[in-house]
Amino acid sequence: MKLSLNRQVIRQRFHTPQYLGLIPSSATSMPNKTCPECKKEVHVRTSKCECGNIFYTPTRKTREEMEPKEEEIKEVKKVPSPPIVKKVIKDPADILQEEAEDLKYVLKTHKTKSKDIHQRFTIHKTINNIKYNGIFNESGKIIGIGQD
Ligand SMILES: [Zn+2]
Repeated sequence: MKLSLNRQVIRQRFHTPQYLGLIPSSATSMPNKTCPECKKEVHVRTSKCECGNIFYTPTRKTREEMEPKEEEIKEVKKVPSPPIVKKVIKDPADILQEEAEDLKYVLKTHKTKSKDIHQRFTIHKTINNIKYNGIFNESGKIIGIGQD
């Protein structure tokens, strides 16, 4: 009777899949760590022990901490605002001089302090001994030709 009982114990203890080599021990045995506070064995992935000891803060929190960094990178990637192009306003007197030169007009400058371009300048050209006056606008652009 005693022998058969021992056999039963042996069967229970050792006739397990792990013992018989059917399942590798690493797959079934729980990887444990010891709590430094209560010396209790807990699973390695346990973040908080039953005694209240915190092994590590869950990874979710560290991910949240990472998020602002990603936003910082996004800000760096921001497209810089295009440079402001200043509209160059040319002096009508300069335009008139260029126009007169191109169209073979003779530019005459009158000594006046008037801001009116027509008071300051007159342009003319002679074609077949006939003198023609150039007609120009406020911006100094020659727009036509006339005869006195
Ligand atoms: Zn503990």
